[in-house]
Amino acid sequence: MAKKQFKSESKRLLELMINSIYTHKEIFLRELISNASDAIDKLCYISLTDDKVGLDRDDFRIDLFVDKEKRTLTISDNGIGMTAEELDKNLGVIAKSGSRQFKQEMEKSEEFDIIGQFGVGFYSAFMVASKVEVISRAYGATEANMWSSEGVDGYTITPCEKETVGTEITLYIKPDEDGEDYSTFLSEHTLRRLIKKYSDYIRWPIYMDVTKSRQVESGEKDEDGNPKLVWEDYTEREAVNSRIPIWQRTRSEASDEECVAFYKEKFHDMEDPVSVIRVFAEGAVSYKALLFIPKTAPYDFYTRDYKAGLELYSSGVLIMERCEDLLPEHYRFVKGVVDSQDLSLNISREMLQHDRQLKVIAQNLEKKVRSELKKLQENDPEKYRDFFKSFGLQLKYGIVTSYGMGRDGLADLLMFYSSKTEKLITLHDYVAAMPESQKYIYYACGENIEHLSRLPQAEAVREKGYDILFLTDEIDEFVVKTLISHEEKEFRSVTSDDLGLVSEEEKKAAEEAQEKNQGLLDFVKETLGDKIAAAKVTPTLRSHPVCLTTQGPVSLEMERYYQSRSTNGELLPMFKAQRVLELNPEHSVFEVLKNAYKTDKATAENYVKMLYDLSLLLAGMAPEDPVAFTEQVSSLIAQGKHG
Ligand code: ADP
Repeated sequence: MAKKQFKSESKRLLELMINSIYTHKEIFLRELISNASDAIDKLCYISLTDDKVGLDRDDFRIDLFVDKEKRTLTISDNGIGMTAEELDKNLGVIAKSGSRQFKQEMEKSEEFDIIGQFGVGFYSAFMVASKVEVISRAYGATEANMWSSEGVDGYTITPCEKETVGTEITLYIKPDEDGEDYSTFLSEHTLRRLIKKYSDYIRWPIYMDVTKSRQVESGEKDEDGNPKLVWEDYTEREAVNSRIPIWQRTRSEASDEECVAFYKEKFHDMEDPVSVIRVFAEGAVSYKALLFIPKTAPYDFYTRDYKAGLELYSSGVLIMERCEDLLPEHYRFVKGVVDSQDLSLNISREMLQHDRQLKVIAQNLEKKVRSELKKLQENDPEKYRDFFKSFGLQLKYGIVTSYGMGRDGLADLLMFYSSKTEKLITLHDYVAAMPESQKYIYYACGENIEHLSRLPQAEAVREKGYDILFLTDEIDEFVVKTLISHEEKEFRSVTSDDLGLVSEEEKKAAEEAQEKNQGLLDFVKETLGDKIAAAKVTPTLRSHPVCLTTQGPVSLEMERYYQSRSTNGELLPMFKAQRVLELNPEHSVFEVLKNAYKTDKATAENYVKMLYDLSLLLAGMAPEDPVAFTEQVSSLIAQGKHG
C-alpha cells in the first residue's frame, strides 16, 4: 500500500519529536494514556443510553503490555476507537486542539522545553519510539485498521483484525544510544512511577503486570520436619493508578501546582492561570468543582469559534464536554470541571438546561468566580490587570447585555484608565479619591489615550484637579450609560454641555456674555444650519477658541459607533448627536469673529465654517468638506504679511 504523507506542519512537529533532546521524554506516556482515557469517556457516555455498547462502567480499562524481547510497549484501551478515515484525519495531521498553539510557539523558536509545557499529543510517542503502530476498531464498525509509521517518511493504513472495539498503540522503543536510556520505558518500575506521576487521577483503571513475591513451600523440610518456605516472584495484572480525579482531592491530596499542571495539559494553555478555584460543596446539592481563570485570552476568544463551557461529570463520569449553563456569559473565559453525584447520569441536554440542581450549582459558581476575582483585584492588582486586559471586554459585555442587572457584581470588577494615575483603576478607587467638591465621575471616550489627553473639553475638569477616566473600548460608553452611577456618583462625559463645574458667578457671567453676543450666536447658528443644535459662549473653555459638545443622550462617540454599524451610511435622527458649538469669549479669535460679523458678513461666514471644522478636528472627526477647509486655511495663510 502506498505511503501517505504527513501534512507539512505535522511533519515539522514530528521531526522535532524524533530528534528531541528534551529531557522529559517520559511525558509521551501521559499523552497516550490521556488520549485513551478520552476515548473511553466518549464510549462510556454513549453506553449510558445505548445498550449495544455492551460494557458496564466497570468494564472500561486501559492496559499496558511490555515485550522486552521485541522492545515493544503497548497501550490499549476499550474506548470509542477510530475508523480508517479517523486514523487518517486524526493521526495524519497535527491535532486541532492544543497543538495549534504549540505550532505557533514552534515557529517562534526551537526551544525544546515548550514540549513539556502542555499536551503535545500522540506525536510525542516518536520521542521514544522508532516505529508506532495503531490498531483500532471504531464503535459500530466490524472491521479494524492499522496505522503504521516510522517517522517523517509518512504512514500507511491497512485493514487488519481486532476482536474488540478500542485502540491498541504499540511503540517500538528506540535502542539505547547517545547516552539515552530508552530501555527504561520497558521497565515495570519506570512505567509504574510514570503512571503515578502523571496519570494517577485518570479515572479509568490502568492495568499492568506487577511483580510480587510470595512464600511457597520448597518441597524440602527443616530440622523440625516442617516444610521449608522460599520466596518466589510472580506477576499479577493490577490497576496501578488511584483513579481519584484531581478535582475530588482536597488541597492536601493535590497541590496547587498539580492543579496548574492539570489545567495546562487539559486545556492546552502554556501559561499558568491567574487563579485556581476549588469548590467542595455539601448540602442541598453536593458537588465538586475545579475552576481556572486563564491569564490570556485564547486567540479565538472574541469570535464565534470559541467554545465556552465547563466539563460536567456525574460521579467521575463525563456527561457533557462543554456545559454552557454552568456559568453566565460574562464568565465564559473560566475553564474547568464540575462533578456532582446528584446529577442523573442519563440526563439529556435539553433536560439539563432546566435542571434545578444545575441552576443551584451555576449560581454558586458565579458567586465563587466573582469573589475570587475580587480577591485577586485586592491582593494582587498587577495580576488582576493582566487578567482584565484579556477578559475585561467580556465583563463589559456582561454589563451591557444584562442591562445593568448584574451590575452589583460586575461593576466592581471593571477597570478604566485613569488620566491622573495613568493606569487602570477600579470605579471604587475613583470614587474614593474624589475630592468633596467633585459631583460626578468624569469620563472621556475616544480612540486612544493620546488623543483623549489633549481633548479641549477636558481642560476645565482637569484644571479643578479632578481625575478623568479615559474610555477607549467602543463598548465603554454603553457601559457607563448602563451603569448610570457608581457608589451614588453619576457618570458625566467631559463633552457634556453641563459638567457641573461652573460657579454661580461664572454662570451669571456666561449668561451675560450669551445675551451680549446673542446676535453673533444667532448668526453662527444660521450659518451652520442643521449641522448644530445650538451655538453658545462658554466660560469653561481655556486655551482653545472653540469646541464641540452635545446635548441629550447621544454623544459624538456613540454617533460614530452607530454610523460604523449602519449599512447604508445613513443615521436615524434618534442616533444623531445634538451638537453644540461652544465659543470661547476670552480667546482672540472671538474678537476677530465679532469684528468681521459687524463689518464683513461674508468673511464672518467663512470664519464660522472654519471654526466649526476646527471643532470637528478637535473632536477627532474630519471636516465635512476637506477641500473647502483646505482652501480656506490656505487663503488665510496667503494673507499673512511675511512674504
Ligand atoms: P489531541 O489529543 O490534543 O486532540 P492527539 O494528537 O493526541 O491530539 O490526538 C489526535 C486525535 O486522535 C484525538 O483528538 C482523538 O480524536 C484521536 N485519538 C488519539 N488517540 C486515540 C485513542 N486511543 N482512541 C481514540 N481516538 C484517539
